[in-house]
Amino acid sequence: KRGLVWLRNDLRVHDNTALYRADRGCEALAAVYIACPETWASHGDGDNVVAMRLRSLQVMQDALAKKHISLYFLEVPTFDRVPELLKQLVEKLEVEALFANAEYPVNELERDQAVRAALRTLRVPVEYSTDRTLIPPGSLATNSGDGFKVFTPFKRAFIARHGDESFAPLPAPSARPQAHRDQWPEWIALASENNLVRSIPKTVGDYGVAPGGRGRVLQWHAGEPAGRKLLQDFEARLPDYEACRDFPAINGTSRLSPYLNCGAVSVRQCVQLALEENGGRWVGRGEGASSWLNELIWREFYQHLVVNYPKVCRNKPFKPETERVPWSRSEKDFKAWCDGETGVPIVDAAMAQLNQTGWMHNRLRMVVASFLTKNLLIDWRRGERYFMQQLVDADFAANNGGWQWAASTGTDAAPYFRVFNPYSQSKRFDAEGKFIRRFLPQLRGLSAKDIHCPPPLESYPLPICNVTESRKRAIEAFANLKL
Ligand code: FAD
Repeated sequence: KRGLVWLRNDLRVHDNTALYRADRGCEALAAVYIACPETWASHGDGDNVVAMRLRSLQVMQDALAKKHISLYFLEVPTFDRVPELLKQLVEKLEVEALFANAEYPVNELERDQAVRAALRTLRVPVEYSTDRTLIPPGSLATNSGDGFKVFTPFKRAFIARHGDESFAPLPAPSARPQAHRDQWPEWIALASENNLVRSIPKTVGDYGVAPGGRGRVLQWHAGEPAGRKLLQDFEARLPDYEACRDFPAINGTSRLSPYLNCGAVSVRQCVQLALEENGGRWVGRGEGASSWLNELIWREFYQHLVVNYPKVCRNKPFKPETERVPWSRSEKDFKAWCDGETGVPIVDAAMAQLNQTGWMHNRLRMVVASFLTKNLLIDWRRGERYFMQQLVDADFAANNGGWQWAASTGTDAAPYFRVFNPYSQSKRFDAEGKFIRRFLPQLRGLSAKDIHCPPPLESYPLPICNVTESRKRAIEAFANLKL
């Protein structure tokens, strides 16, 4: 049987369910990747996440070549052109089955259904596997049959149903003789004439994405081997995760998010490592491993939410009444937030971390999101979009979930009047100001006492808002909605 694996955000050869199943089921195998730059742009994907994706793809191309599996790179502007393109390809290569790993945001689901329908006309089956998540989204429901809306009951149900499973990673495909090559040049020539495809770029720059979007993601080594190495290195730090995870000056978290998002590392590989450390259990025993597993369930929760409540993919708040929050339209405040010039050091240092490195520590994501949506009362969707543009780990489900959580428009179990005080957060989680000093060199000379709320300085702006008054304004705005 001739199989084709359609790669998306699953750019690894080990523990790739679609690749594994294709390898098991087919004698001849090829892989295809389809870039859709206009759809990516309409989803808000920025240079950093696109660069990480494409550089990881290049690494994967070499890994597949070692197994004699060719990877074909195609480009069409938008998702809606994909079904026809794949149909032509499948026909030309005489492919008998298409394999891919499922993706869950609405546009991705629609694209995948359209592909299935297009290939049905050729009688070619399409198999979408569960791979991005541990279990299929939609498979866990409350007693009344709805998808979970709150994390803790979701976690409880997940552990009750799946706590004994090992989620063991799958092996890489075996090396094989490859039978597609002969038809390929002919097809590619035809497709190029029709302006359908481009060949795989040698560098990300060739593809038209500035490498690392102004050089920022260059510090992230793309691809599966780099991701696996990071995971291995994290093993030694895992026991200390719970104690260190909230302090941005410490390298206390895994920093695996860019790899999990483009699929260079799988969630099962992470779970395996943590379960081994934790004696096969999701809770109890090692504090570090249990706490990390808890975060991996958060990841799972938000991926499931997108399937259970697809309205979140349509720019809608999870809580409909919050559509009526009287958001501020201050462009000046929004720009100061984006540029890290709010005059609140922990917020500005966090935004500098994002703008300079394409990544931000989780504690700070919560702090800056709360500051934007509560203290500045700016619509969470603007912050969500800015994060998508900047983050090297930009992921719709986690980002949307995180923003709606912080803005009290989402699934947070805590009430809307919980507003983070950035100064208290700063004193608690960056007590000595080490993180602030790293990203705001103009404040380096200040003492640990002054650095959180500096005296007037020529080199640093005054705070753009009073956190006490703005907190009151936010609480009133939400209270008026009669939540
Ligand atoms: P670790 O602490 O080592 O956790 C391991 C993995 O668990 C992470 O890589 C991630 O895949 C997952 N994870 C951890 N915390 C969360 C969480 N709260 N929600 C969902 N998954 C989680 N994460 C993204 O991957 N992409 C995003 O675009 C994104 N946007 C966010 C926006 C906001 C406003 C907030 C509050 C959080 C956002 N997160 C996002 C979640 C979280 O901040 C990052 O996953 C985490 O900081 C990544 O660092 P790490 O890999 O060192 O995490």
